[in-house]
Amino acid sequence: MSSRSHLLNDRTAEHYRRSLADGVERVAAKLARTERPFTGVTPAELAPAVAAVDLEQPLGSAREALDELERVYLRDAVYFHHPRYLAHLNCPVVIPAVVGEAVIAAVNSSLDTWDQSAGGTLIERRLIAWTAQRIGFGRSADGIFTSGGSQSNLQALLLAREEACRLVRKNSEKRLSTPEILPRLRILTSEASHFSIEKAAVLLGLGPEAVVSVPCDAKRRMRIDALAEELARCEREGRTVMAVVATAGTTDFGSIDPLPAVAGLCERYGTWMHVDAAYGCGLLTSRRRRDLLLGVERADSVTVDYHKSFFQPVSSSAILVRDKDTLRHVTYHADYLNPSRSVEQGLPNQVDKSIQTTRRFDALKLWMTLRVMGADALGELFDEVVDRAADAWKMLDEDTRFDVVVQPELSTLVFRYVPAGETDESLTDRANLHARDALFASGEALVAGTVVDGRHHLKFTLLNPETSLADIATVLDLIAEHAGQYLDAHTPALSAAQAR
Ligand SMILES: *Cc1c(COP(=O)(O)O)cnc(C)c1O
Repeated sequence: MSSRSHLLNDRTAEHYRRSLADGVERVAAKLARTERPFTGVTPAELAPAVAAVDLEQPLGSAREALDELERVYLRDAVYFHHPRYLAHLNCPVVIPAVVGEAVIAAVNSSLDTWDQSAGGTLIERRLIAWTAQRIGFGRSADGIFTSGGSQSNLQALLLAREEACRLVRKNSEKRLSTPEILPRLRILTSEASHFSIEKAAVLLGLGPEAVVSVPCDAKRRMRIDALAEELARCEREGRTVMAVVATAGTTDFGSIDPLPAVAGLCERYGTWMHVDAAYGCGLLTSRRRRDLLLGVERADSVTVDYHKSFFQPVSSSAILVRDKDTLRHVTYHADYLNPSRSVEQGLPNQVDKSIQTTRRFDALKLWMTLRVMGADALGELFDEVVDRAADAWKMLDEDTRFDVVVQPELSTLVFRYVPAGETDESLTDRANLHARDALFASGEALVAGTVVDGRHHLKFTLLNPETSLADIATVLDLIAEHAGQYLDAHTPALSAAQAR
């Protein structure tokens, strides 16, 4: 076949149809046959197969490349759709979104300018308006799709930084330069917030000390008294709080900071309020739990990750702002792309609102989802996993083999295997770590881990309505079994007995 036969165009439509069908067929067959979320393959086992592929020797057809892919990827991939995948914030995806993904790749619109996307731009704008309306923002709201929560947080904090610099300049006699202002800026966020806040601070030239960690209460929510104290202290010390970042659904605990109280303090101090709802945004579609997000409408900016609690394929995220004028801080003009003239012509160029240039039409996945199944159906899926987490919490709380940290507001469970009578905390730490590793190696179930108060804990992140309480019980038994075996092998008295 000639090189040009691989180009997708009018003459290759049939080739495209067959190739894509081949790919779909492989994945469909795979999904139908996966019995475990993972095979337990190690990097050492898989690396030789990947290294052995001769990239200078093309196979010529998608079919052959897919055969090879089976060995180097599909066979041993981690499958999030499996009910015993309980590790990170990865969701099973809905089919309408996957159809959207196929369209995105083939049409390949780039959403930076109208002249590279046309209807894509209008669809994205509708979905931004839809999300803003669900948040409860007014008519001056706007936003943009991004690659993920980390990027959304970065852009939100960039806008906040620019607004803070503007205010500092307005209120000071001297004309301070940006480098003079940056060292005095602070970001207040809870100790349970996402690490992308700290990364963003560094990227924004602030340095990690600019992020002030506000303590949490027992339910891992930002303590309002502590936030008030920090705001007052920053004011006394001549620092400018450029943003308070509240989290609606912390990564570890799913805890939701007290948004109305945070909003009240931000309004009093004239501080930018950002809500990181990368995880909790699923509540925007919930008919039963929407009130958990009350107060989010008073934020200046909000991060949503559709690829977490909206069951969308990676990547799909957005940043929403209450006042669209603040997006001007990322507006730059290039003669070759979005000249000022295009503004006069009224052309809707999304690049004016984004920190990216060429940008995927990720919005189409959400569009297809809403057009096929609707928001209520998404909300039901999310509500179901939150219900399941509540039931699983009861089960864990009654199970003497485990200590569970907090009753979840969303769908994570953080717990620790605690052997009867065992008081050696560091041995218990190792037993929990071992249980997680052993599960991973067996591929029977995937669970996450985290550290709470200096001790190793295990974590379930439920995002799959197909995960039943029985699945969870099975995984708990497996954990207890692995941890118990580890303790048996590492308890001094026993080892001595075995030695005898
Ligand atoms: C996952 C997560 C992020 C980061 O989002 P990505 O899409 O992974 O970049 C930010 N904040 C919170 C609370 C998260 O859970």
